[in-house]
Amino acid sequence: MTDLTPQQGIMDIALYQGGASHVEGLSNVVKLSSNENPFGPPDSAREALVREAGNLHRYPSTDHASLRSAIAEVHQLEAEQIICGVGSDEIISFLCNAYAGPGDEVLYTEHGFSMYRISALAAGATPVEVRERERVTDVDALLAGITPRTRLVFIANPNNPTGTMISEAEVRRLADGIPSNCLLVLDGAYAEYVEGYDGGAALAATRTNVFMTRTFSKLYGLGGLRVGWGYGPKEIIDVLNRVRGPFNLSNPALAAAEAAVRDVEYVEKCRTENTKWRAWLAEGLAELGVPSDTSTANFVLARFASEAEANACDDYLKSQGLLVRRVAGYKLPNCLRITVGDEASCRRVVHAVRAFKDASQ
Ligand SMILES: *Cc1c(COP(=O)(O)O)cnc(C)c1O
Repeated sequence: MTDLTPQQGIMDIALYQGGASHVEGLSNVVKLSSNENPFGPPDSAREALVREAGNLHRYPSTDHASLRSAIAEVHQLEAEQIICGVGSDEIISFLCNAYAGPGDEVLYTEHGFSMYRISALAAGATPVEVRERERVTDVDALLAGITPRTRLVFIANPNNPTGTMISEAEVRRLADGIPSNCLLVLDGAYAEYVEGYDGGAALAATRTNVFMTRTFSKLYGLGGLRVGWGYGPKEIIDVLNRVRGPFNLSNPALAAAEAAVRDVEYVEKCRTENTKWRAWLAEGLAELGVPSDTSTANFVLARFASEAEANACDDYLKSQGLLVRRVAGYKLPNCLRITVGDEASCRRVVHAVRAFKDASQ
């Protein structure tokens, strides 16, 4: 028996459940459980990564100046208002560690991304969940949920696992209603999938208490490399840099991310493919009696008649080598989150769900 006791809140953290990646005894398995880009990263990023192989004995840059200026150039932002992290997960963790502690509340929505709760608890703060309206972020509920103890409010827009998003006017209304001593964090992990959407950059650029997070893990296909970034007021960046490890990102990660962000054509190409096959997938499932909300991301949240049906369908898909995500942990027990794969994968999913439905008639 140990006499060591972890900090308050730590033992309340349920371990993050990643998406499954293999099925015993099956080859030809398609992983549609982690919202990864079926095309992987752009060639430019792979090439940059390989070039860095000659540089592995060198410590990486501590200020990420080169990646930050590339991001700033491409997105037309101020480089000094950018911070890079080991995935946007690390940025979320910096925010909680820097701004929330014991007695403080961290607000997020009913079906919000699980790292908000995990990072809040890790910081010793109290996670507080507010209801959504039919699987959509409810600005009024969030504003009503704010107390004098609230320090951080997280929303993902588009949200994971619902795929829904709220309008820029609604986000602005949320920002307008949040007290100045409380930080609104706009998680833009899927922003690249929404044509013409800045992920909240304009708001983060003009408000003292709005911050945006972004990632290279989704559309850029670099989830395995772990690079994300945040954008917001200079004062906040300065705070977060104090809790950031000086060498948090490796040379290969920095180089690949820089090449990827400059590859604007790749973004366009992947967005177009995703939009096309997302619509095809959602429609195909709806025709089989499996509806979903209009998704703005690279996955659809398929709704079944019951938890039992969702689980049975998941089991059947798995037997066919199709890995999707159960989302009971997100309070959506009758749903399955299905990443939009390439054309062949989307066709396999619809085909398999049809066979499942036919067999259960
Ligand atoms: C995937 C995801 C992230 C984090 O991804 P990283 O790989 O840590 O950058 C953040 N927010 C949401 C909503 C996500 O779905």
